[in-house]
Formats: sequence, C-alpha cells, structure tokens
Amino acid sequence: MYTIAVEKAETLKKKPLDSELTFGTVFTDHMFTLDYKAPEGWLNPRIEPYRPLSMDPSTMVLHYGQAIFEGIKAYRRNNGKIGIFRPNAYIPRLNRSAERLCIPKVDEKLFYEALMKLIDLERDWVPGSKETSLYIRPFIIATDPYLGVRPSNTYKFMIILSPVGAYYPEGFKPVKIYVTDKYVRAVKGGLGYVKTPANYAASLMAAEEAKKAGYTQVLWLDGCQSKYIEEVGTMNIFFVINDEVITPPLEGSILGGITRDSVLMATRKWGLKVKEEHISIDQVYEAYQKGTLQEVFGTGTAAVISPVNELKWNDKIIIPGDGSVGKVSQKLYDYISGVQYGQLEDDFGWVTEL
Ligand SMILES: *Cc1c(COP(=O)(O)O)cnc(C)c1O
Repeated sequence: MYTIAVEKAETLKKKPLDSELTFGTVFTDHMFTLDYKAPEGWLNPRIEPYRPLSMDPSTMVLHYGQAIFEGIKAYRRNNGKIGIFRPNAYIPRLNRSAERLCIPKVDEKLFYEALMKLIDLERDWVPGSKETSLYIRPFIIATDPYLGVRPSNTYKFMIILSPVGAYYPEGFKPVKIYVTDKYVRAVKGGLGYVKTPANYAASLMAAEEAKKAGYTQVLWLDGCQSKYIEEVGTMNIFFVINDEVITPPLEGSILGGITRDSVLMATRKWGLKVKEEHISIDQVYEAYQKGTLQEVFGTGTAAVISPVNELKWNDKIIIPGDGSVGKVSQKLYDYISGVQYGQLEDDFGWVTEL
C-alpha cells in the first residue's frame, strides 16, 4: 500500500450530458501527480483538483520532446460497476516506453493503485449510455528547466481522465485509408514501438494530405523499402485473406497494441488461422484482384475495431470483401465490447471491476 494524498476540489464541475460527449475535450475534477527528482526517485504521489500546470519556458519537454503516454479505458458495466480494461497490460507498456526515452520507470503497483484511487474518486464521471466510456491518459514529461540536450533529472507522471462519447453513434462505420509511400513513420531502431508524442508529430503531415484527399487515416509502409505494411498511426492493422487472419509482427517499428493482443487472443481461441507475419502492399493488392481479400480492420483502444472499406494506394483502389463490415470484424467488435460492458463472459480475465 502506498499513501496517496488527496486534495479534493472545492467546487465540482457540471458534468456534460452523455449525448454531448465527444473525444478528449472534457476533463474530470481531479488528476493524479507524481514527481521525480534524482537521486531520490519518484516522490509525493497525490490526487489534486484538475488544473493547469505552471512551467518554466525552458522546461525540457517543450524543446526536446522527452515524453511518453498511455491510453486506457474504463466502462460503466451492466451491473452498474466500473470496468477497467486490461490495466495490467497497459501499465508495463508505459515502462517499456520509459526505458527507450531514458525516463525512470514508475513503480507499477503504485501506478495501479493511483489509477484505481483516481477512478474511484471520479466514478460519477463514468458515463452510462451505450458505447460511452471514460478515457484514461497517463503520461510522463521531462521537467528540468534547461536547454542542453540530455535526459532530464526531473519528471512529472500524471493521470487525467476524460469522459468520451460513442465512437460509432450511428453504428459500426467503416473508414477509408490512404496508403503512403511518400512519408515514413518509423524505422527499426527508432521510436516506432514507443507511445511517444514524437511519433504523432511525425505523422501529422501525411494525415493532413490523406484528409484532403478524402481519407480518414494513413496506412504506413516500412521505412526501408516502402513495401511491407506497418500500422495506421493510431491503430494496428489486420487483414483477412482466404479465411486467414494476418497482422504484421512486432519488430520494433510498430506499436504493440493491447487491442491487437486482445484480437490475437480471441481469434486464436475461436480456432481461426492467425498469423503474425510480414505482408506487403503488393500482396494485399494481389489478394484483392484474386477476390481473396475478405476484410481489413484497424485495432486500438479508442475505436476497438475499425473496419476499413477502402485502401487507396497510388492510383489503385482496394476494396476488401464487398465493401461492407466483415464477419470477423463484427464478431470481434461484439465480443470485445461485450466483455468491456459486462454483457459477455470475460473469458480471459481482461476486466478489473471497481
Ligand atoms: C496506442 C497506439 C495503437 C493502439 O494500441 P492500443 O493499445 O490497442 O490502444 C496503435 N498504434 C499507435 C502508434 C499507438 O500509439
């Protein structure tokens, strides 16, 4: 047990109606903070009213981007309790990111306790309408006021919470994806497997070009040959070809999604043929031409499953299946969200109830 000090907000905010919720615009009344100072280590765990940070303009994170984050979700379950999805999978991932960015690791038990205590305090903020949830954003930033380039000696670890609306208010909606070979997201040895702001900064320009062309997101190809499929920037990607489920392997340039892992667990348990293998964009196009490309879908915490009904690759258009939501995509969405909301049996013990 850790002692986490609590300073309660004097006045509580007015909560938005579930129907007004979007993504990432509204934050709850409290936040968790933990400070790091060398050589003492992580200190002073506390929950305080949600409020702006005051920082020196020379604070290192603002200049050199030494920062990492996580994205977790909690759900209002059928029984009225709150379910947190796979906290023990997300927590160690933050520490894997920390290692790559020379950020000191956080005690995982303290992280877990802080998470539970903060959510418990804010439990009335977890919305109850269909498909709404509480988005949880833990993050660490470098806080030395210093303009030299080196790892910081001080950090802040924080957790903020944001109630979010239904991702698919009009039902499961497929997205159109733009394949880029003009820009590169990550290469082996780089930051591809790390949840760090730098990857998002690097992706913005390609995403803007895709949007201008009428596409929702970018599908990245490998940084060396622009040939093999990587991921979709905020999502991992899966293909169903000839009744086989295929997703690229984790070799350092893509993020190891928890949703990706959950999809692998579920499809393997259902007895589907599942492969983590390199797949080139040419192979995907070839499968499309042969009529064996049945489904394409993205996976991520925000949307869970995001069916893809069009890929644009240079002058070629690829339409998986008949362009409607595929069977595997639908079954995965129904299963994973059913477990999250407590409507289906939690076969893998994914949910922690609070
Ligand atoms: C967070 C993230 C994902 C999805 O991971 P989940 O754990 O399933 O949410 C995929 N790609 C990138 C680059 C990410 O940052």
